[in-house]
Amino acid sequence: MIGRREFLRNSLLAGVGAIIAKKFKPLWPSEVAFAKSSKQVSRPVLISTWRQGIAANEMGFKVLSEGGTALDAVELGVRTAEDDPKVMSVGYGGLPDECGHVSLDACIMDWNFNAGAVAFVQKCKNPVSVARKVMELTKHVFIVGEGADRFAKLMGFPEVDLLTDEARKRWLEWKRKASPNDNWLSPEENHDTIAMLALDKEGRVAGAVTTSGLAWKIHGRVGDSPIIGAGLYVDGEVGAAGSTGVGEAVIRTCGSFLVVEYMRNGMHPQKAVEETLKRVLKVNKKWIDKDPNFQVAFIAVNLKGEIGAMGLRKGFQYALYKDGKNQFLDAPNLI
Ligand code: ASP
Repeated sequence: MIGRREFLRNSLLAGVGAIIAKKFKPLWPSEVAFAKSSKQVSRPVLISTWRQGIAANEMGFKVLSEGGTALDAVELGVRTAEDDPKVMSVGYGGLPDECGHVSLDACIMDWNFNAGAVAFVQKCKNPVSVARKVMELTKHVFIVGEGADRFAKLMGFPEVDLLTDEARKRWLEWKRKASPNDNWLSPEENHDTIAMLALDKEGRVAGAVTTSGLAWKIHGRVGDSPIIGAGLYVDGEVGAAGSTGVGEAVIRTCGSFLVVEYMRNGMHPQKAVEETLKRVLKVNKKWIDKDPNFQVAFIAVNLKGEIGAMGLRKGFQYALYKDGKNQFLDAPNLI
């Protein structure tokens, strides 16, 4: 039976939810383009960041067609980017840190708040699958560094040298051009993490994020991508959100969690990503103003299959599989 205190708390929360939902009724210009799709439920939906999202969505759709769940779709979807050495911001072939070491971060989450994450992985090319093992086979959520590599090995993942000749060449060029006056405050142009969200036919929602992080980062740096709540968040009753861009800015705002909370309070996913980017801008203004390349972007999906995608600045692109079509699209921008 529900206790009095719990009843009062629930009524209070419901009241606040209703007020917020009312205040944020969808009337914004950025929603107009999405209004059509909001009329009915559309499933399945797959949404992934950047160009590598096209292949990820294709794989995700194949997995769903063969009876896989949203969770299988995102894991196997993002692995296409991890395995592709031409994608130099994810997995094998990713650009290294300032010392020439490639380190990978990833996380995965399902519709039941099950989550797994790994960071600073240096010997395994599929950190997203290691993250899934953390989620399914341990009582932990997050394993990092040497421990994550050790765990991966124990799980049977082969040890791999992640640094390709091409990535090494790019690192050497960067080193040659680096000046002693460079600081670590300016983020790199390389921010093409893959974040992928899936909503399957049954209404199960899941997400995965995997990255080699910012190029030439300080050895040991971890961004938002493997952090549940920052780079990814999934709530089976609401939807999911994921991010790409300068991870520090997303960590400061718990970005993906915030997107999902806005959706919980009644916002359309497009409005939710827009409001979250406004928060990111407010909180990180002193860094953003100084750097014209400072980019942060979010994708989101709710249980109806409505989606949101937006970049802080122009240039963010994403792949959307919806209504039987896999499209590569330009997202709107906030500033
Ligand atoms: N968000 C990633 C990080 O900060 C970078 C990216 O999106 O590529 O590590």
